[in-house]
Amino acid sequence: MQALLESILDEVRPLLGQGHVASYIPALSGVDPHQLGIAMLGTDGALYQAGDAETPFSIQSISKVFSLVQAISHAGESLWERLGHEPSGQAFNSMVQLEFEKGRPRNPFINAGALVIADINQSRYAAPILSMRDLVRRLTDNVQIISDRAVADSEYQYRARNAAMAYLMQSFGNFHNDVDEVLKSYFHHCALSASCVDLVRGFSFLANSGRCLHSGESILTPRQAQQVNAIMATSGLYDEAGNFAYRVGLPGKSGVGGGIVAVVPGRYSICVWSPALNASGNSLVGMAVLEKLSERIGWSVFSPL
Ligand code: GLN
Repeated sequence: MQALLESILDEVRPLLGQGHVASYIPALSGVDPHQLGIAMLGTDGALYQAGDAETPFSIQSISKVFSLVQAISHAGESLWERLGHEPSGQAFNSMVQLEFEKGRPRNPFINAGALVIADINQSRYAAPILSMRDLVRRLTDNVQIISDRAVADSEYQYRARNAAMAYLMQSFGNFHNDVDEVLKSYFHHCALSASCVDLVRGFSFLANSGRCLHSGESILTPRQAQQVNAIMATSGLYDEAGNFAYRVGLPGKSGVGGGIVAVVPGRYSICVWSPALNASGNSLVGMAVLEKLSERIGWSVFSPL
């Protein structure tokens, strides 16, 4: 497995000049695009890593999975009164459907949906920024995890589009807390820094029927873990979710920091990171790495496991 990961990274290295790092905020536009790392954690505890697997990066929308898990844990099924679990087929920051669908976001992994989730969590936790950070520390087994202040502040400064979505949802009665306060929480969650090795630990519960691998703690029921994996498979890569299912065939979640997490249910959590993005805002080289991995090993939830 170790040799396989290294050879796949070598094969995709020529692609490293392609794509563009996220440029919507200055704090992300300066990241070196030539970085590339991968980690894989088996449900048997075996950890494999190659390249820049221990370099922390901005997890961005990968945090939307942690926020969803937090909301499921206290709101349960009632969550779905506020948003759906349908793929959107639109860019992560699109607002076109929000107007037509009366302020009810399609799913928790587009920005509009993640903002509703952040609103739900804001009502539940006295310190939403810290409670999320602590959840991620617990799941990754890394007490050093912090939110990058410069990234969060920069997101807040350039918040117009996310703020517009929140106010539109408020106008439909689907946003209950102060918009600015919820945006601050959301941006701090996106600005959490973690490495591939941290994130494979952080996502081990989704490969392990809801149970965190290192602590044994039950994070979700097996049924809930299966449902989160289903939403990742259908919406985790926005308007490229179909392409990801076709090329990789695993539940996945990407972020504009260039990370992609994928889950092989019952077997592995995987995280690949390379900062340059394709037109859909997903790591260009990360997609290629996961495609090769799925091709070589034959892992796909669409084929016999
Ligand atoms: N912080 C980013 C935003 O709200 C997250 C987007 C992403 O990673 N796709 O625009």
